[in-house]
Amino acid sequence: MAGSDDPASRVAWLRQELHRHSHAYYVLDAPSVPDAEYDRLFQELEALERMHPGLATPDSPTQRVGAAPSSAFATVAHRVPMLSLNNAFSDEEVIAFDRRAREALGSDGPLGYAVEPKFDGLAVSLTYIDGRFVTGATRGDGEAGEDVTANLRTLQAIPLRIELAPPLLEVRGEVLMLRRDFMRINDAQRARGEREFVNPRNAAAGSLRQLDPAVTAARRLWFFAYGVVAGDNVQLPADRHSALMDWLASLRFPVTPDRATVNGVDGLLGYFRDIGARRGMLPYDIDGVVYKVDSIADQQRLGFVSRAPRFALAHKFPAEEALTELAGIDVQVGRTGALTPVARLRPVFVGGVTVTNATLHNEDEVRRKDVRVGDVVVVRRAGDVIPEVVRIVPERRPPGTTAFTMPGRCPVCGSAVVKPDGEAISRCTGGLFCAAQRKQALLHFASRRAMDIEGLGERLVDQLVGGAPAPGDDAGLAPAQAAPLVHTPADLYRLTAAQLGGLERMAEKSAGNLVAAIDASRRPALSRLVFALGIRNVGETTARDLARHFGTLEALMCATEPELLQVSDVGPVVAQSIATFFAQPHNREVIDALLQAGVQPQPVAPVPAVAGGAGAVAGRTFVLTGTLPGLARDEARALIEASGGKVAGSVSKKTDYVVAGDEAGSKLEKARALGVAVIDEAGLQALLQQAAKADGVD
Ligand code: NAD
Repeated sequence: MAGSDDPASRVAWLRQELHRHSHAYYVLDAPSVPDAEYDRLFQELEALERMHPGLATPDSPTQRVGAAPSSAFATVAHRVPMLSLNNAFSDEEVIAFDRRAREALGSDGPLGYAVEPKFDGLAVSLTYIDGRFVTGATRGDGEAGEDVTANLRTLQAIPLRIELAPPLLEVRGEVLMLRRDFMRINDAQRARGEREFVNPRNAAAGSLRQLDPAVTAARRLWFFAYGVVAGDNVQLPADRHSALMDWLASLRFPVTPDRATVNGVDGLLGYFRDIGARRGMLPYDIDGVVYKVDSIADQQRLGFVSRAPRFALAHKFPAEEALTELAGIDVQVGRTGALTPVARLRPVFVGGVTVTNATLHNEDEVRRKDVRVGDVVVVRRAGDVIPEVVRIVPERRPPGTTAFTMPGRCPVCGSAVVKPDGEAISRCTGGLFCAAQRKQALLHFASRRAMDIEGLGERLVDQLVGGAPAPGDDAGLAPAQAAPLVHTPADLYRLTAAQLGGLERMAEKSAGNLVAAIDASRRPALSRLVFALGIRNVGETTARDLARHFGTLEALMCATEPELLQVSDVGPVVAQSIATFFAQPHNREVIDALLQAGVQPQPVAPVPAVAGGAGAVAGRTFVLTGTLPGLARDEARALIEASGGKVAGSVSKKTDYVVAGDEAGSKLEKARALGVAVIDEAGLQALLQQAAKADGVD
């Protein structure tokens, strides 16, 4: 029936699907599909009803708000219906909304709008009689909601008494869960072996719609006010929505500091982009912004359509989650031999890009989520985070699927795969015999932050090492070919333009350029070479610390574990991997060959520790996250390091500052959770200036 061409049966099927999803979302607080999928079905139904008006019915989901209140709660009839909002997904729809509003109001100039984030929580109404909070209700089906007064009383953000209020006041707003609390609650649910919440919105709804208020209290929900309904014959103290919000703030209702007033459609779209850029840094989830004609008199003139006001519009961000089909599971082999299952997906547009691959992390994760080839899966891509498969849609599993198992042999070199007890990661034991590991090791060696050899891309390395397919190629082995030209990084330095010119898609000029680029990398900073060697657990920062501490490669190679432990931030695990790496004859051979090929790391004068760790930047640890408006990551890092500071990759209690830019993600959340100072680019510049002054530098 789903694929039927007959509009009447398609409409019936869409309604049935939408009812089913609404029930899961509003009543069970456990959505069965991502919002984007729901919105897609909803829009299709709207379009069909527009094209075939005879099929429209008053009980269609397009005519209704939410879902009927659950019988587990007493019912509260709303004095004034609680409606939904019309949605826009494109600039054109926003332009059309503004045009309609201006035409209806007969306005020549741009309209004034109050603009607010669209909180991803659930709407509630709070009734105050003589300044006392007496009733709190969910939206329900818009006409009547659930009585959740006792639960709402437990929210710190909701005032139980207000001063100087009219005899009857109804405040409307959103109950939501801060991301920090969401992570904490899901950790606790997992520890107890209980079902985790899919997202903060459903966690908020599930926590508010509890029969025991003590459970709600433990969940620490938040509230933002965004609307007022006056009692009969009560004159509100402002004639603009924005001023009413200021008034609510003066009564101690939380009102978001991220609201604004703007003029005309340019103002609306500017606000949308601004909040969109800051979305990841907000402490709560939003799924768009809401535009409201600011003048209350104009709002009243514009009025309502069936289920939404004409004076407001929700402009939604592109969905971060979408449904698609899992076409296959590839197993990729990393630099250290780690095998990673990667989902091959039917291409899907999510988070603003088309996604074809998504990480599945490791075998345990695939098992836990029970992801199988053929499943319909929820794919998530938020900000510039790598896309991942969040979960499957069990009811859409086709017959005959089989559970995933990690291969016992490396898919690239055929060596045995091991998974030590207690570890999540399976590894290929082939080492540099494995073409995939060789390939990754070479790519790492040549990468920008390591030896910075320009022009040594994936396809070329594939040909140099032989055997390892590039991601996106079929998972099998590459066709048999001549003996590989490169086994270890040292072999790179012996390559000639003639040899390179013989490779596929390699013009004479590019071959010459590559030989020159390899040659130019012969005198690297010691820290770069140490990083380039690919020692397990030694990232860029540790490589830099090691280079500063030991000064020469020889000194580092001879260091014992106790000596390595003297280096700042090197603990027993890192010390052991460094010592083990240099103890292996094979690795020493590669290093000797590099030195013989003329690679000469530049010695570093060991830097004395900054006295007392004092200073605005010197001795301080910074973590960079998100995109800074005016500084590339590398520039910010270089400036911090030039002032004696250190840049670490992850946030811990030892972090002094997190420098957060646009689309900052989990690091920012962790900083907030640990109480680490969070600054923006301007804050960083201020610290750098302070440091420069203290050093007597202008
Ligand atoms: P909506 O969520 O698109 O918009 C209306 C709601 O926005 C209001 O009720 C209010 O709660 C909220 N809101 C947030 N910030 C606001 C602000 N500043 N000012 C005013 N209101 C604000 O519409 P809806 O009717 O509540 O729900 C429909 C949406 O819910 C769908 O678009 C879909 O994404 C989702 N949904 C998903 C499923 C699913 O299965 N995944 C099922 C049903 C509904």
